[in-house]
Amino acid sequence: MPTETREFQAEVKKLLDLMIHSLYSNKDVFLRELISNASDALDRRRFAGLTQADLLPTEELGIRLVADPEARTLCIEDNGIGMTRDELIENLGTIARSGTLEFLRNQESAKGDSPDLIGQFGVGFYASFMVADRVVVESRKAGEEKACTWSTDGSGEYELEDSQLDAAGTRITLHLKDVDIDGGIKDYTDEWELKNIVKRFSDFVSYPVRLTVNKKEEEEKEGEDEAAAALDDSPINSMKAIWTRPASEVSDEEYKEFYTHITHDHQEPLLHLATALEGTFEARALLYIPGLAPFDLYHREMAHRGIQLYVRRVFIMEECSDLMPDYLRFVKGVVDSEDLSLNVSREMLQQDRQIQAIRKHLVKKVLQSLSDLRKQDEEKYLGFWAQFGPVLKEGLLLFEEKKDRILDLVYSASTRDDSKLTALDDYVERMPEDQEAIYYMTGTSRDVLASSPHLEAFKEKGVEVLLLTDPVDEVWLQQMPPEYKEKRFQSVGKGEIDLQDESEKDEAETKEEEEAFKDLIQAIGSAVQNEVKEVRLSSRLKQSPSCLVLEDGDLSPQLEAMLRQAGQEVPDHKPILELNPNHAIMKKLQGLFEANGTDPRISNYASLLFGQAVLAEGGQLTDPAAFTQKLSELMAEAI
Ligand code: ADP
Repeated sequence: MPTETREFQAEVKKLLDLMIHSLYSNKDVFLRELISNASDALDRRRFAGLTQADLLPTEELGIRLVADPEARTLCIEDNGIGMTRDELIENLGTIARSGTLEFLRNQESAKGDSPDLIGQFGVGFYASFMVADRVVVESRKAGEEKACTWSTDGSGEYELEDSQLDAAGTRITLHLKDVDIDGGIKDYTDEWELKNIVKRFSDFVSYPVRLTVNKKEEEEKEGEDEAAAALDDSPINSMKAIWTRPASEVSDEEYKEFYTHITHDHQEPLLHLATALEGTFEARALLYIPGLAPFDLYHREMAHRGIQLYVRRVFIMEECSDLMPDYLRFVKGVVDSEDLSLNVSREMLQQDRQIQAIRKHLVKKVLQSLSDLRKQDEEKYLGFWAQFGPVLKEGLLLFEEKKDRILDLVYSASTRDDSKLTALDDYVERMPEDQEAIYYMTGTSRDVLASSPHLEAFKEKGVEVLLLTDPVDEVWLQQMPPEYKEKRFQSVGKGEIDLQDESEKDEAETKEEEEAFKDLIQAIGSAVQNEVKEVRLSSRLKQSPSCLVLEDGDLSPQLEAMLRQAGQEVPDHKPILELNPNHAIMKKLQGLFEANGTDPRISNYASLLFGQAVLAEGGQLTDPAAFTQKLSELMAEAI
């Protein structure tokens, strides 16, 4: 293969530039990133060796740091899976993760520091450029003879050339920048410094990390002590799997570092939980709920990044999707089983009874700890809810899920207090005894919902209504009207609403009213017959003249739009136009109608009443021009 020079993908250039000029104070993290990559590569080699034993090295799997104070270089070597020339191009010349790409594209103007970037993504390999001005990667893939060297000074291009490595693995050589204590660049060839950083960030890495510091010439002559020191080649990390240690012995700092190690997320996790499954199957798990939602929470490929599977401390696979349902895909962590075979494959996992048992246990624990958090620190819980609430509610769509335990965690805006959310169970708690249903309204924005005509009667009678604005709300409430604490859910925009109240008109009165308006309603109905399936008098309107309602089983307009967008066929259905018999417009229209039943203005007013109802629920008019023209005509006439 020829030596070649290639350009970095535009986003990588941007990222490199951010790293090179980074003001991010904690530059030590570069080492964690490189050790963590090495550890991943070792995992992959060990895993490949399970099915193809000749891919395993004869010597122990591990990581070695070689520091050379004189040359000012630091090498990170591993005998992991290695990379081919193509993989070097693919992995180090481009960025694949969609969230990172989007973020970088939006960062056009970013200059200098970007702790956000490091926090959100852990920029991995590229963090090297915070401390090095030249990086050389030599790699040989397990099972291949040839090695390849990739190198760059971090400007727009990198070089590739064939090279030699005695064994498979990767050696990364950093040509270090000058020490700059104010700028956060320490002496990364110093033994004590390196030991400290490894202890702090990578102690639990499950492979030995060893350190060699090349001595300066004059030091070499210094005699026996040195020779003894050189013989001590024990690992500088403890390698102790953090989830096997009693929780009381693990500090919060260690939990946080482990979280960063497995997720590459540098922010504080919201909470961690350590749990053990005992009995027929034995397993331990250490799970985390992140503090912030990742950028790609709703991307398909994100669906399962969360859980790593170990068997008796041996890493088996990343992204073990069978251990966590989709609606908890934000949960991160490790599961270590005592009983599974080391040779499990993804296909086998799906039917494995043990995996099902572990998953069941984990789901219960996660929901339980969220519920505890809610009780102990509601504010913190609401922070979680803001990040992950819509994802959690996806669980309400699952047929096999126990819905109540998710509903116990649901919060929603409500008409009771516009400044804060209410828990569903608090709503039910507050319900007066004779209130039969949990009233709710769905839509795209809280403000539009809050001023909807549908709520007028509810407001007047002081009946609280939940205002749900996540797209998923439409779906779970539609899918199968569930019950919660023996109360059904009732949309205020659907069906007939009957808010019992003594001060209400009695039936006879209602009948009389209906009789009086009967012919007018019919005339209005024929004017808007293309738009609505029925016109009727309303019991839910107090101030507004009109609103649209649906029948109980009908899809809401938002859900219809969502389904259409997803390419599904949705049968056309028309809403019902409800009119307020007590509104001045209706009374005057009645007068107009009595004077002349065929007055052409009646049909114009009918269209306007319909248009108003559409606008009031945040909908769009099919013919806004016709609407404004009619409105202008009638205004001119009235003035
Ligand atoms: P991340 O580790 O988050 O995927 P990086 O930029 O750190 O992102 O690394 C990009 C990819 O390069 C890794 O996913 C991995 O495939 C490859 N890689 C990095 N370091 C090594 C290594 N020491 N051995 C083998 N592959 C590596």
